[in-house]
Amino acid sequence: MNASSTTDTHYDVIVIGSGIGGLVSATQLAAKGAKVLVLERYIIPGGSAGYFEREGYRFDVGASMIFGFGTKGTTNLLTRALKAVNVSLETIADPVQIHYHLPEGLDLKVHRDYEKFLEELTSHFPHEREGIRRFYDECWKVFNCLNAMELLSLEEPRYLMRVFFQHPGACLGLLKYLPQNAGDVARRYISDPKLLKFIDMECYCWSVVPADQTPMINAGMVFSDRHYGGINYPKGGVGQIPLKLVEGLEKAGSVIEYQARVTKILLENGKAVGVELANGQQYRAKRIVSNATRWDTFEKLLSPEIMPDKEKRWQKRYQKSPSFLSLHLGIKANVLPPQSECHHILLEDWQRMEDEQGTIFVSIPTLLDPDLAPEGYHIVHAFTPSWIDEWRGLTSSQYQLKKEEAAARIIERLEQIFPGLAKGLDYQEVGTPRTHRRFLGRVDGSYGPIPRYKLAGLLAMPFNRTSIAGLYCVGDSTFPGQGLNAVAFSGFACGHRIAVDLGY
Ligand SMILES: Cc1cc2nc3c(=O)[nH]c(=O)nc-3n(C[C@H](O)[C@H](O)[C@H](O)COP(=O)(O)OP(=O)(O)OC[C@H]3O[C@@H](n4cnc5c(N)ncnc54)[C@H](O)[C@@H]3O)c2cc1C
Repeated sequence: MNASSTTDTHYDVIVIGSGIGGLVSATQLAAKGAKVLVLERYIIPGGSAGYFEREGYRFDVGASMIFGFGTKGTTNLLTRALKAVNVSLETIADPVQIHYHLPEGLDLKVHRDYEKFLEELTSHFPHEREGIRRFYDECWKVFNCLNAMELLSLEEPRYLMRVFFQHPGACLGLLKYLPQNAGDVARRYISDPKLLKFIDMECYCWSVVPADQTPMINAGMVFSDRHYGGINYPKGGVGQIPLKLVEGLEKAGSVIEYQARVTKILLENGKAVGVELANGQQYRAKRIVSNATRWDTFEKLLSPEIMPDKEKRWQKRYQKSPSFLSLHLGIKANVLPPQSECHHILLEDWQRMEDEQGTIFVSIPTLLDPDLAPEGYHIVHAFTPSWIDEWRGLTSSQYQLKKEEAAARIIERLEQIFPGLAKGLDYQEVGTPRTHRRFLGRVDGSYGPIPRYKLAGLLAMPFNRTSIAGLYCVGDSTFPGQGLNAVAFSGFACGHRIAVDLGY
């Protein structure tokens, strides 16, 4: 189909993209009775929470360390999102969040058990025993505030009033932490420079910025929930989360279309009223939600000439983070030392933490779910930050060579923790920022927005409504940022705000 044509089907809401943020907002709305159409450019749902299969291995494309599958409190947003549409997932508890392999022999594990983690960290910094406890205890204060209340749209005044009257202490607590960054809080209690570097890494490994630029709200959530709800891996791989959400969406009477790339958000009198696909097909709805990044939404799906001032201001405060160079490996099981953990972080020189291909992240999900690989083998996802500029302007053979050289360097570094890795390789696939851009539909393959300079915590992060009437954003370009549980929060908030707007 080339000429544009419009379907007669009437939708309440169109969601552009089926990342976890998009799917959670879609399922929240579908569960309330709204008729939702999700349009996904790729052949399966999930975006950065998707998967692919090769030669008997099932690889997660991105996320593997999953928060939000707890059974208690209110911050277990993945459990709640699935439940809202009557689906569920079996998960496997991970006893250790991360095994750090850091400079100057700083080798330690973040245990699910809080006291065990504090003990292990303190054994490296005995003179900071009190500071360590006070810093991490303060993170719990943030978490306890969040975990006391239902997490919905902060743009909905009646909800805000309700939670304020139900939980005044928690709300005031959160207001206090909203403009703060984790680095400032850490320095109140800790002075050892090496320990502060460790806190930087604790933040960098999920926020891709050091502690000084990492909002305290996010730090409080991550540093506490890992010991509360814990890290839990979905049986069958991370790709099961979006697949289950889609099952729930369809059971609730809504629809998803794949290979449906939206190229334009249609406006009438300045209001978003529909979308146009690459094949010319048009769809209309009362509300439009974009799960694409803000850059893709306001520079590609809308004309950059009409970019609202608010977006321009946001772009002055936030920039695109790097993307990743990803190695997806199949390895012989005997390569892994006994008692290996699922998630590792490797850095040999503190000065290189934020550099191109500096810090290496490793996930080995088959240690939790062996069914993702043939018997006697494991999957390893090793990834390291990389900018798209490193990969531009290459001929096809130069690109191949550069990928092979980069992969060999990473494997050589990983030999420090997994001796014999190179010899034990059975399968290897290398993804670059170009791969992330192509398959995840994300500008420059970016992991998401990061502050350009030190901002006041999360205050400048936009919520779901935009300056364009009828248009909402959801996912990691909105409050509270990157990570599956964070984008699920954004999905709950977006679904809630639209449901109120539409009278559901
Ligand atoms: C390598 C890597 C490792 C990570 N590790 C973790 C981890 O361990 N734990 C964790 O919690 N998080 C992790 N993350 C982050 C987490 O995966 C993301 O923050 C989260 O998945 C982003 O979700 P989202 O809803 O913003 O959308 P995305 O995942 O970006 O999905 C957006 C969807 O929209 C579709 N789309 C875009 N444009 C269009 C269009 N024009 N038309 C139709 N469809 C469109 C895309 O195809 C995609 O499916 C990781 C990310 C990466 C890349």
